Amino acid sequence: MIGYATYVVIGRVCIPFIEDSGTRAKGVGLMVGYLILLLVMLWSYMVVVITPPGKATDHVSSAPRPTPRYVPPSQSTADEFHASEPYRPPTSSDETARDPIPVSNPTLLQAPDDALLKPEQNIPPQHTPDQRAPNSNPGQQSTAGHPQETMQRSLRRPPSTPVLLPEYRYCQRDNIVKPHRTHHCRACGTCILKYDHHCPWIGQCVGARNHRFFVIFNLWGAIFTAYLLGMMIGTTAARGSEDIDPQCIVIIALAGIFFIFTFSLYYTHCRLTMLNQTTVESLAFRDMREKEQMTDGCLFWDRSQKHLSNEEWGRIGREGNIWWKDGGWRPNFEETMGTSVIGWFLPIGRPDPRIGLEYTPNRRFDLEGRWMQRKQWPTDLR
Ligand SMILES: [Zn+2]
Ligand SMILES: [Zn+2]
Repeated sequence: MIGYATYVVIGRVCIPFIEDSGTRAKGVGLMVGYLILLLVMLWSYMVVVITPPGKATDHVSSAPRPTPRYVPPSQSTADEFHASEPYRPPTSSDETARDPIPVSNPTLLQAPDDALLKPEQNIPPQHTPDQRAPNSNPGQQSTAGHPQETMQRSLRRPPSTPVLLPEYRYCQRDNIVKPHRTHHCRACGTCILKYDHHCPWIGQCVGARNHRFFVIFNLWGAIFTAYLLGMMIGTTAARGSEDIDPQCIVIIALAGIFFIFTFSLYYTHCRLTMLNQTTVESLAFRDMREKEQMTDGCLFWDRSQKHLSNEEWGRIGREGNIWWKDGGWRPNFEETMGTSVIGWFLPIGRPDPRIGLEYTPNRRFDLEGRWMQRKQWPTDLR
């Protein structure tokens, strides 16, 4: 496609301009601009293709599966873990509140905090949890003894998997304890450091070592296709409707498709790197958000609920991202893109050989990797 586009641009657009002395400067200018962008785009493509993403097996020696120090919770214990932590000031009856919740009743899973209401909160005895959806009747709840307590409810239930424990990071195919953020790629047949996704366009994975080059390639792909699109539309429009070259129309269509493709990838990856999320990690946050917005199988958008959950836990994908760094977008962006500003735009420099092996967890997570509520965070973070 690049070869064909170059033929159309130079052979069918620029050369005719150059042959006419009146439009020679325009033809040369268009051709030089095209060739410069083509070379930068091909250079960044070559760099992302020849830079391996980083194989975990090159750094970690194989080992038997670690013996679990932690017994995975059944569904019920996992729910108890979070259901037992409602966001409300401590009361004298806290011990009762921590009683296990019978999860055999599915309604309680939707409204775990309802099970925590005490008789002294003026709930009529015949008012069983099944009859009340969470927050279905805030007015009634505000008549309870502690209106603030009952108003501040959250539906957020982060996963309780201890993701930092070695037994949860074991790859059975490679027999290694994977470094943090490493995932096994089935297409490559190996574990990739800070796995982002497998990209057929570059014939390998995007991972710790080549993620920066992948972002830069998309940037130049977008600039190149934008130039091509603008140039083709401009020259085709100037020719008038009776002298349209069908090959230019083909190039306009191709450039348009690939502009949308590369620009949206560039935009998405910049956004994700500023949040310190890989593509695969971002899917988990998307699921969590969707689950939270889902009630009775329908998507709904309750901003007040989201606000309460965020007050209680912090934001999904930021405070709730185990790899997120405090201090705004820059420290997060620099972890993937490096500290050199010119290196954000050009595929210069080589990746640090240690990149992808060590990541510092967010202090809002416990030592085993579970997201904690704001009240459990270190004091300076609350
Ligand atoms: Zn593996
Ligand atoms: Zn792969």
